Amino acid sequence: MNNLLRNTDIKYLRGIGPKRAELLEKNLGIRTYHDMLYHFPTHYIDRTTIRRIRDFEGEDMAAVQVRGQFVSFNTIGEGAKMRLVGLFSDGSGTMEVVWFQRVKSLRELYHTHTEYTLFGKPSVFNGRWSMVHPEIDPPGAPLASGGFRGVYPLTEQLRNRGFSSRTFATAAAEILAGARYIPETLPEHIVNRYGLLDLRTALTVIHTPPSMAMLDRARLRLKFEELFYLQLDIQRYARRRSSSTQGFMFGHIGQFFNNFYSQFLPFPLTGAQKRVIKEIRADMGTGRQMNRLLQGDVGSGKTLVALLTMLIALDNGYQACLMAPTEILATQHYETIREMVAPMGINVRLLTGSTRKKERDVIDAQLQDGSLHILIGTHAVIEDRVKFHNLGYVVIDEQHRFGVAQRARLWTKNVIPPHVLVMTATPIPRTLAMTVYGDLDVSVIDELPPGRKPVQTLLRYDENRLSTYQGIARQLKMGRQVYIVYPLINENEKLDLRSLEEGYENICEIYRDYRVAYVHGRLKPEEKDYQMSIFASGEAQILVSTTVIEVGVNVPNATTMLIENAERFGLSQLHQLRGRVGRGEGQSYCILMTKRKIAKDTRRRLELMTATTNGFEIAEADMQMRGPGDIEGTMQSGIPFDLHIANLATDGQIVQMARDAACEVLDADPDLTSPANAILPRQLALLNSRIRDWSRIS
Ligand code: ADP
Ligand code: MG
Repeated sequence: MNNLLRNTDIKYLRGIGPKRAELLEKNLGIRTYHDMLYHFPTHYIDRTTIRRIRDFEGEDMAAVQVRGQFVSFNTIGEGAKMRLVGLFSDGSGTMEVVWFQRVKSLRELYHTHTEYTLFGKPSVFNGRWSMVHPEIDPPGAPLASGGFRGVYPLTEQLRNRGFSSRTFATAAAEILAGARYIPETLPEHIVNRYGLLDLRTALTVIHTPPSMAMLDRARLRLKFEELFYLQLDIQRYARRRSSSTQGFMFGHIGQFFNNFYSQFLPFPLTGAQKRVIKEIRADMGTGRQMNRLLQGDVGSGKTLVALLTMLIALDNGYQACLMAPTEILATQHYETIREMVAPMGINVRLLTGSTRKKERDVIDAQLQDGSLHILIGTHAVIEDRVKFHNLGYVVIDEQHRFGVAQRARLWTKNVIPPHVLVMTATPIPRTLAMTVYGDLDVSVIDELPPGRKPVQTLLRYDENRLSTYQGIARQLKMGRQVYIVYPLINENEKLDLRSLEEGYENICEIYRDYRVAYVHGRLKPEEKDYQMSIFASGEAQILVSTTVIEVGVNVPNATTMLIENAERFGLSQLHQLRGRVGRGEGQSYCILMTKRKIAKDTRRRLELMTATTNGFEIAEADMQMRGPGDIEGTMQSGIPFDLHIANLATDGQIVQMARDAACEVLDADPDLTSPANAILPRQLALLNSRIRDWSRIS
């Protein structure tokens, strides 16, 4: 049944055989009937439409269908360079049809004065239209046999070996015709309730849609199924854990919290800070383990929330730990927090990759005898050798750089897993959050501290350089500090580094009266720290850097940021960078410097930056423009299994629908034991071969 499709080797399919099977596996990972059935077209061409060659236009034409005859054939070149060129006419005009492979056999296969239907992507070569390796229907093939023709993802090698979209459509049809029984993979009650197509119909339609309306229904069914199982998995996991995972009971608020709150709080909390602290406090008091995501735009004051809630852990006799993605950030947290709590006799230490042995030993000893209250660091803090006396609470800053597996290691740090707060400034669209963070509860700081003026963002071109530099000079004269950011992108690191160095020299030259600090990822940690520290302390007024300052760095007196080659940054990155300014009272500026000629998309991106400072708006736009792939990627994909057809960026409504359906099922049948749901645990097990329970990952 289901297994039959999954277990039958594709080589047994008519028209495939062992050789082509091998190619399929190598190129597309297709090994079984099931794989073949789930290799879907990416788009479709209306088979009822025949285009006229005379009407071809544009640089980047989509694939089209034409019908006509070959006027002549010519073999050109020799050996490896040999190609076959057919002159093809449809009565309205002519084009060249070119083959680079199988020249001899094709020459015999096709004839002049015979009507063929060709299907391919026209392009202009040497001033005339041509089509390379088109698909060709046999003479007399019925036209408009209805519906649409799928265009399948193919590799160059497969194309050269004679594979075409038709091969895949035929193979799928062959499998569907031969399979007496395609077992339904969703429970009947769900199919009925949501009016979905049954699986066989959906698969038939997705390969050869009779109409666009049917195609939409087939896609809905298949996307829904993927997202439904994803949500079911996430929801089941979250429910099971929240009902069963014992957590520390932080029952009371004591000296540390109260003293700090009444005496050392540097400023009144914003309403949003108060609210999320309450949420966290309530969570910590339930006796169940907390897993909470704290979202708050850059500059919204997450650090203070982290600190106050860590004090609750301390008040209850536990240690706390704060983990940051970079050394710079960890150091900065350490300094801010130490300064704030030092008067209260709280012992805070910093552990990073570059912590000296002597200090490490002190940390180890104090961690184990319990005299170290708060440990702050990079992921060095989750290494196995780091042993706590009684770790009760972990805060992870800027989660997107920590993978799920890394988070999981925290669970082994105490007999009962510590409460976990994940803080992120990367606003993620709701539907993505539902999926990537589906197992976390969410708190949002949706308010900036009072008195903040939104950063003014300006788009500037090379020819405005002089006035831009003058503007910066005015800020410096007022005693403000300035960031100058250069892109550093790995592929071309040497070149980038050079432009960074040149930029640095140039800036030193222009602003001779000021001290310029200089940071990039290649510097030794000590050097980096030193450079950062002279900027943070105000000794240096300008910081020339790469994106290493992207996350978290906090220098409220820095009011201007100049971003060079802004066109090379993504939206989210620009937003993160810009968050470094606008942290104090003064009006801040972010200048996006770019060349005059930039692509349309790029201009749209940069213009959006000048139009809004709202992180959620930017995140939405970013996802629309880039698709969720990148975003998922940077999050190390918190998703348990791959999505094949559904798209988190564009299928928001289906995500919601799938989530509702999954929740309903679990509300009624938490353990999925009802006979009506018999298929669910089986499908989940099949899909979900990866270990999901973090508590069991060591
Ligand atoms: P982020 O959420 O980006 O990590 P931070 O915690 O670094 O933000 O806070 C940004 C700045 O705002 C810091 O300078 C911090 O001292 C300040 N800040 C935080 N909370 C408040 C508040 N309630 N009122 C005024 N300033 C605050
Ligand atoms: Mg921060």
